[in-house]
Amino acid sequence: MQELEERIQREGTVKPGNVLKVDAFLNHQCDVTLFDHMGAAWAEHFAGRTITKILTIEASGIGIACVAARHFGGVPVVFAKKAQSINLDGDQYTTTVYSFTKQKEFPVIVAKKYLNAGDHVLLIDDFLANGKALRGLIDLCESAGAVVEGIGIAVEKGFQGGGDKLRGEGYDVDSLAIVESMDAETGDIEFRR
Ligand code: 5GP
Repeated sequence: MQELEERIQREGTVKPGNVLKVDAFLNHQCDVTLFDHMGAAWAEHFAGRTITKILTIEASGIGIACVAARHFGGVPVVFAKKAQSINLDGDQYTTTVYSFTKQKEFPVIVAKKYLNAGDHVLLIDDFLANGKALRGLIDLCESAGAVVEGIGIAVEKGFQGGGDKLRGEGYDVDSLAIVESMDAETGDIEFRR
């Protein structure tokens, strides 16, 4: 998606440790017009699929998923929580994910009443690197007996391999910008063509 690639080139910064910072429009300040265009792009890609629910993970996935849901008939958005809380009552599906940015394991939890057998789920997240966060969401869907219809990602870091592994397993992964290489010293960012 050209608009997203241009924003990354203009406003993104490359940090040591293979971290791309896009706080100006995606991870801190949110450009909802851009989010709307992203939602439209995913709706075009996944047209013809039955989507009954969008599943994402807190925190940065939530805004993107909520705006995208408007392009999928206003289906419910469920976000997996990353910590137990007294607000989480009832039965839950739980798994564990290793965080690329925080470099530690954390739980990923969703209440059973919000993810059901018979749901056709679109997974949405801001970044795809090694694929651990998505594995957690796929685990939750498998536990619930829900079908993963597709995966919509804003920025995939292609060189970390998580996206291609998921594609190899048959998942339909639609990443709107795929970074093929980036350099923390020069700031250069190259996209997959
Ligand atoms: P994965 O689980 O695929 O290794 O990493 C994806 C998760 O880590 C995303 O949910 C995102 O929050 C975070 N992440 C991974 N790489 C980056 C990055 O370069 N920049 C930012 N802002 N977040 C990242």
